[in-house]
Amino acid sequence: MIIVMKPDYDEDDLLRIVRRLEDMSLRAHISKGEQRTIVGAIGDERILAEIPMESFPGVERVLPVLKPYKLVSRDFKPENTVVSVDGLDIGGPRVQVIAGPCAVESREVLEEIAESLLPAGVHFLRGGAFKPRTSPYAFQGWGEKALEFLAAVREKTGMKVVTELMDPRDIELLYKYADIIQIGTRNMQNFRLLTEVGNIDKPVILKRGLCATIKEFLMSAEYIMAQGNEKVILCERGIRTFETETRNTLDISAVPLLKLLTHLPVIVDPSHAVGRVDLVPAVSRAAVAAGADGLLVEVHVRPEEAMSDGPQSLRPQPFLSMIEECRRVAEAVGRSL
Ligand code: PEP
Ligand code: MN
Repeated sequence: MIIVMKPDYDEDDLLRIVRRLEDMSLRAHISKGEQRTIVGAIGDERILAEIPMESFPGVERVLPVLKPYKLVSRDFKPENTVVSVDGLDIGGPRVQVIAGPCAVESREVLEEIAESLLPAGVHFLRGGAFKPRTSPYAFQGWGEKALEFLAAVREKTGMKVVTELMDPRDIELLYKYADIIQIGTRNMQNFRLLTEVGNIDKPVILKRGLCATIKEFLMSAEYIMAQGNEKVILCERGIRTFETETRNTLDISAVPLLKLLTHLPVIVDPSHAVGRVDLVPAVSRAAVAAGADGLLVEVHVRPEEAMSDGPQSLRPQPFLSMIEECRRVAEAVGRSL
C-alpha cells in the first residue's frame, strides 16, 4: 500500500502513521521527494486493508500496490535513485563507464589496462577475482591475490574497483577490497547471496539472469533492498534466446522498461550481451540512446592473451573511439558521459 501525504503534512502525522503500521507488525518505508512524501507500507495486505489509512491526518490518498515488488518500484519512490561512490554518481545526469578485463590476470597487465582507460575519463575499473566459469577446468580467477592487485591499481590511479562476489563466504574479503560488488548472472537468484549483500552498505551491481524475466530480475533486487541495502544498480547483459550468432541477445527494451518500473539505476553490459568485439560499439551506442545510466565493458590491452573472454574484449584504441561516439549519443539525449 502506498500512502501519499498532503503537501502540508507535519512530522507528527508521519510519526503517527509509522507507529500504527509498526504496531501491526508492518514495515513503513518513507520516501521524501521534492514534490511529495510517500509512505510505502509493506506486509500482510489483509492486515493493511483493515487500517483506515485515509482517515489519518496529513494523508492525501491511499493506493494499493499490485506489483509483487515494492521497494524497487517507482510507485514507492518516484525520484531516481542515485548511487554514489566517493562523489561519483551512477544514476545521475552523467553516464558512467565501468571498464576493464574479464578477469584480473597479473598486476602488470591490470595496470596497463587501467592506464589505457584513463584518457577516456573512466572512473570505475572492473576485473574478476572469482570467475564463474562454465567449465571446472577453465581459469577460475586468482582470488585474494587479484583483489590485492585491484587495490594496488586503485591506489595508483584513483579508479574505483568493481568485482564479483560468488560465495557468501567471501563477503568480508570483498567488502574490504571492492567499491562496488557485482552479483553475476548465474547468481541472480542465489537468494542467500542476495540476502548477504542486502545486509551490507556497499553498492551492488545485480546482473540479469540468463533466462530471467523482468519481474524475476526485480524480485531479486527486492531481496537486496528488503534487507536494507538501497544501493542497487541493475545490469542488463543479454538473455538467452534461439539466436546463436551472438553470445546472448541484448534486451534493449529492458532499459526503458526498467526505468519506468523502478527508480534504480540501470546499466548495460554490451560485452557479455553480444560476445563479439565487432558489435560492442554499436550496441553500446544503442544502450546510451535507450537511457542507460552506465556501461560495463570488457577491455584488454592484448585480447589474444586474455585468460577469459578475449573475443569480446575491446582494445584500448577502439574503446576510446567508442566512448567518443557514446559521448555524442549521450549529449543527443540530454546527458553527459
Ligand atoms: C562478468 O562480468 O565477467 C560476468 C561473468 O558476467 P555475467 O555474470 O553477466 O556473465
Ligand atoms: Mn567476462
